[in-house]
Amino acid sequence: MRDLTKAMENLKRHESGWQQQAMLSFAEFLQEVIAQPTRIIRNVYQVYADMISAFVSAGEDEYSDDPESINYLSYNCNKLFVEDSDHPFFADRLFANRLIRHVEALSVGAQQNKIYIFEGPHGSGKSTFLNNLLRKFEEYANTPEGKRYEVVWRLKRDDLVGGVHSLSSLTEKLAWVLEQQDKKEKTLEEKDECRDQTGLADYFEVPCPSHDHPLLIIPKDVRRQFFDDLFENDNFKWRLYTEKKYDWIFEESSCTICTSIFQNLLKKYQDPLKVMEFVFARPYSVDRRLGQGVSVFNPGDEPLRQNIIHNEVIQRSLDHLFCSSRPASYLYSRYAKTNNGIYALMDIKSHNTERLMELHNIISDGVHKVEDIEERVNSLFFALMNPEDRKVLSDLQAFSDRIEYINIPYVLDLKTEVEIYREIFGRHINESFLPRVLHNFARVIIATRLRTKSDAMLEWISKPEKYELYCDNHLQLLKMEIFTGYIPPWLDEEDVAAFTAKRRLNIIAESEKDGWKGLSGRDSIKMFNEFYAIYARDDKLIDMSMLGKYFRKYCKDDRDILPQGFLDSLQRMYDYTVLQEVKESLYYYNEEQISRDIQNYMFAVNFEVGTTEACQFTNEKIEISEAFFQRIESRLLVDQKDAPAFRNNVQKAYTTNALTQEMLRDSLAITETSLYTHLYEKYVHNLKEKVLEPFLKNENFRRAVKDYNEEAFKTYDKKIQDDVDFLMHNLHKKHGYSRQGAKEICIYVIDNNLARAFAGR
Ligand SMILES: [Zn+2]
Repeated sequence: MRDLTKAMENLKRHESGWQQQAMLSFAEFLQEVIAQPTRIIRNVYQVYADMISAFVSAGEDEYSDDPESINYLSYNCNKLFVEDSDHPFFADRLFANRLIRHVEALSVGAQQNKIYIFEGPHGSGKSTFLNNLLRKFEEYANTPEGKRYEVVWRLKRDDLVGGVHSLSSLTEKLAWVLEQQDKKEKTLEEKDECRDQTGLADYFEVPCPSHDHPLLIIPKDVRRQFFDDLFENDNFKWRLYTEKKYDWIFEESSCTICTSIFQNLLKKYQDPLKVMEFVFARPYSVDRRLGQGVSVFNPGDEPLRQNIIHNEVIQRSLDHLFCSSRPASYLYSRYAKTNNGIYALMDIKSHNTERLMELHNIISDGVHKVEDIEERVNSLFFALMNPEDRKVLSDLQAFSDRIEYINIPYVLDLKTEVEIYREIFGRHINESFLPRVLHNFARVIIATRLRTKSDAMLEWISKPEKYELYCDNHLQLLKMEIFTGYIPPWLDEEDVAAFTAKRRLNIIAESEKDGWKGLSGRDSIKMFNEFYAIYARDDKLIDMSMLGKYFRKYCKDDRDILPQGFLDSLQRMYDYTVLQEVKESLYYYNEEQISRDIQNYMFAVNFEVGTTEACQFTNEKIEISEAFFQRIESRLLVDQKDAPAFRNNVQKAYTTNALTQEMLRDSLAITETSLYTHLYEKYVHNLKEKVLEPFLKNENFRRAVKDYNEEAFKTYDKKIQDDVDFLMHNLHKKHGYSRQGAKEICIYVIDNNLARAFAGR
């Protein structure tokens, strides 16, 4: 026979979690309360809120110094919904803000005992959202950070209240005596094992089926004073007595079962302190599969035949213990199992409709009857709903203040939409696209989900035509930018100024009506898959023409899917944007380089052409040649025939004013002198104006771009090679183009003559 010792040893290393944790006496529990009051004194709403803030990082505001900011923040919900999840859920920025507002309202204790219905169209990921949320809640509630305690009564048999004398009839007495004998024999056989579970030990345990917080055992009339003496006069105590979220600890009572046990014991001992010796605290362990702390019902789950739960063993022990005139009935409903926890309904259909109705009645009354006993229900109630199922709720209209809807429509934030493709198809998909094209795919998908007309947008920008070069005339493209938290640079100054907090709130509020139609999350993944399969190739990046072709074909089959002209507008916005990128990459945007050029020039005008000097300001060694002067003068827009006079003037201004007065007398740096400032501004201004000239006028430059990366490129003169290299390098570094992509985009700009199309913009 094989020796199993070693294999079995492994079991010792199994971490069994809470079971191993010692049960705390009430006194020990109070020490915990004093040590960590904010952690131990929490109801389910507070733990839920703490869980969210543990997994969602603080929101970020990209325009933090914008006085009109409305706190529409970027929250990273990945830890909550994506990481370690087999089925990730992607919260877009709009939904994340909605979720955080809901949690904030809950955590301050403003709105409790409500049913939160997450409503969204088919394929919006509602059930994935709820499953992930509950999974994280379960995970968090079972960690030290999310731990709470619940009441367990540990009642002594030998110290029975009444004992055999309290039993009224002879048969009861006889049964009791027999059981005592039976118990003694078994105890001898089994020694200490199984004592608590079988109730054969000196004591037996009665867990509170409603998961009562142990502090609720303290009678309400003395609770205030109790806490006053328990805590020092510190910040926590002040919060406990003033913050609404702590109201429950003063106002709630323990459940009927705990109350009757307490009263029975009190009757026996006439001493509340003695009674508290029977109160123990153990961690509230949350287990969705057992329905403890979290219960989820699917529409198809049959209603239970037995909705009332007993425990014969505990009941018998209690009956023996307490006199029958005041029985403690160990009876509870299944709502008790999620008391102080989460009760969730997946979809309001079939049996879940009945459950919702019942739940609603319970919440409205606050209590319900379990046989003769009143049971309080205090849980976090969630439900999911499709819009077409709203009709079943018409009966509930009268009580609608008990129901709060949180919309969970299709993704409307293009960053999130793109993130979904990356997550599902892999990050490498980026490499198949020219920059921006992937995001434009997402823009088309989102456009199908938006309502065409937006009053909030038109109230802000009444004449959308003025942006026809960058945006569609329903301003959907602009709205999408705002949903992602971005204010595009092509907006007029006056429109940016008119983008007030009130208008922002209106636009965000209006988003609640978007995302209920169009392509669902599932549809968009299917389409992306198809699109990618057709166009992704090794030798050619996916560009806008492919995107246009694909969606135009799609629109032929479904004419109403996109507003007319949307794809053209998207193309124009793209053209404008890539032109800006090319412009910026051509332009010697590097401020430091401009600054060095100007300083070198101011220094060099003091020397003869043909000499080499080290500039005393930049320490650069300068070959002072005609070419050196011309390079800078051309950017200062100085005509060659005026150059000598210009150089002369700069030299004079330098010696008489900049050097002698500002620098030597007033100790200014060269970059603070008025001559420097003047030259700098002129340089930058002209650079921006003239930057597209090679694209407009210089045929050689255009051909060199097309020959870039080819053998023929080396035949161009050095200046053109340098400029093209510089352009490509900047496109790569600043705008994320690959070598091939940078070339493709330049050819695109040339072939479509974008420089002329957007001249002066
Ligand atoms: Zn209880």
